Amino acid sequence: MALVLLVLTLAPAGRSQAAGANIVDPSVTYTYGVLTRDIRELAAKYPDIIEYKSIGKTLYGRDIWAVGLGTGSATVFFNGSHHAREWLTTTLNMQMIEQYAAAYAENRNFEGYDVRDILGKTKIWFVPMVNPDGVTLQQTGLQSFPASVHKALIAMNDGSRNFKRWKANAQGVDPNRQYDANWEELVNNYYYPHWMGHKGTAPMTARENKAMIAFTYEIDPEIAVSYHSAGRILYWNFRTPAANVARDKRLANIFTAFTGYSQVSPSYNSNGGGGYTDWFIQKLGRPAFTPEIGVKTGETNLPLSAFREEWRRNKKIGLWIAQEGYALWAEKNKTTVKPVSVFLDGKRIEYDLAAFNEEGATYVSYKPLLTSFGYKLKWESAAKSVTATGDYGKIRFTLGKKEAEINGKTVTLTAAPRLYEGVIYVPVRLISQATGATLTVYPDTGAVSIKSPVRVAPDPQPTVPNVPAEPSEPPVQEPPVEIPTPTEPGPEPSTPTQPEVPGEVQPPAAGSEGVVIPGTIVEPGA
Ligand SMILES: [Zn+2]
Repeated sequence: MALVLLVLTLAPAGRSQAAGANIVDPSVTYTYGVLTRDIRELAAKYPDIIEYKSIGKTLYGRDIWAVGLGTGSATVFFNGSHHAREWLTTTLNMQMIEQYAAAYAENRNFEGYDVRDILGKTKIWFVPMVNPDGVTLQQTGLQSFPASVHKALIAMNDGSRNFKRWKANAQGVDPNRQYDANWEELVNNYYYPHWMGHKGTAPMTARENKAMIAFTYEIDPEIAVSYHSAGRILYWNFRTPAANVARDKRLANIFTAFTGYSQVSPSYNSNGGGGYTDWFIQKLGRPAFTPEIGVKTGETNLPLSAFREEWRRNKKIGLWIAQEGYALWAEKNKTTVKPVSVFLDGKRIEYDLAAFNEEGATYVSYKPLLTSFGYKLKWESAAKSVTATGDYGKIRFTLGKKEAEINGKTVTLTAAPRLYEGVIYVPVRLISQATGATLTVYPDTGAVSIKSPVRVAPDPQPTVPNVPAEPSEPPVQEPPVEIPTPTEPGPEPSTPTQPEVPGEVQPPAAGSEGVVIPGTIVEPGA
C-alpha cells in the first residue's frame, strides 16, 4: 500500500507541480508533443500576456504553433527549427517565452530589462518550431510516420534509416531554401527530395513556408530573428540596400556583443538566398538576423548539454530586440508636427502648432478653436473628457474616442481627440460638425479656413423682421454669398420656428441649387 501511494504521489509530480516550477525543461529532447503541451500550459499560467494559435498544418497534420507574448502595438518575430535537427532553437524560443512571462507576472526586471514596460510596448511573436514534421522525423525516426512513406523517406535519406542528420521537412524540401529571395539562382541544390539542400520545384510552395509568409504579413514585425544551429555565427545582411546597412549593422554589432557570435560577411552571404532572413530583409526592407547557436558538432543536433551556455549568450536577445523593434515602430508612427495657420472668418486664430496624423486629419489644440466660437470649457480628468458649452450648444468629447456627443447626439469624429506633449488636440473638423461652420483645408500649406455659420435664428424681438446674419454675434465680416438669404421675412416673424442652434441651418430655399451648405467640408484639390 505504501508503495502504491508513493507511486501515485511521484507520478504527477514529474514537473511543474510545485509553485513557481518551470514548465519548459531544457534538459529534455524538445519534441513536438512537449512543445504543444508546454505552449498550452504557459498560456493557461499567463493568460494576460500569452496567446497562441496554429498558423498552419503540415502534411502529416502537425500544427505550426505561434505564441504571442506581450500586449504592445509594435511587434517583433522569433522563430526556430526551420531545420529539423536544429530543434535546440525551439527550446531557446520557449525558454525566452517562459522566463520573460514569469518576470512580467512577478513585475521584476530581467537582466536589467524592464519587462512590463517592454512587453507593454511590443508584442513578441514566436514560432518555436517551424518544421515539426522534420523535427519529429529527426528525433524519432520512421516510427512516427505511416509505413506507406517509409521507403520514400529512406530514399531521401540516401538509403539510411538513421535520420539524425535530417534538415528538411518530411517531403524532403528544405524550408529555409524555399523563400522567394534569390531563389531562382540558388546553387548547390539537390534536384530531388533529400534530407538537405532541396529547394523545391518553386518558391513558397511548402506548407511551412506558406504559413510563415502569411503570418509575417499578418503580424507585420519590425525585426525578425530566425534561430538556427550551429557555428556561433550571425547572418545579418542579404544584399541589404545601402540605405539600411548602418541601421542593421548597429543591431548586428549589439547582437555580437551579447552572444559573441561572429558576423558572416555580406559579400559571402550575397550568393545565398532562399532563407527566411534573406526574404525578410529583401521584401520588407527591415532588419533580420540568423544566429547559428552552438559549436559545430557535425551532421546532427546539438547535444542537450549545449543549451546552458547558448541560453546564457542569448537570454537578453528577446527583450533587447523587442525594445529595438519598438523604437523602429515609434519612429514610423510618430506624429509629424508642423505649424498650421487657422483662420476664422478671415482672422487668424493663434496656434503654436498643429499636428497632422497619418490619415491627413488636421489636429488643432482644442482650446483656442473652441473659445473662438464662444464655448466655455470643462475638463474632467477622471473621464478624460472635455465638455464645451456655448451659444452653439454642447460638445462632449473624450481622449482616444472617435465617438463624441454634439447637442445630445452621438457623432463620429474624423479622428479621435488625443494628447500630444501635454496638450489636447482635436480634429479641426469637429468645429464644423458642432456649429455648421464651413471648413476649407488647403493641402499645399496646411492652412485651414473656417467660416462661421450664418445665424438664422429669429430675432427675439417680435416686431423686428427675421433678418439673418446679425453682424454682432458672431462677427461675420463678409456674409458669404452662397448662403441663401431669405428675401422676405416669414409670415409670422414672432414665432421662433427656426432652431436655436445655428449649426442646424435651414436648408436652402428651393431654386437655389448649387449653394454650399454650411458644414460642408471643401478641400480644394483633394
Ligand atoms: Zn539551419
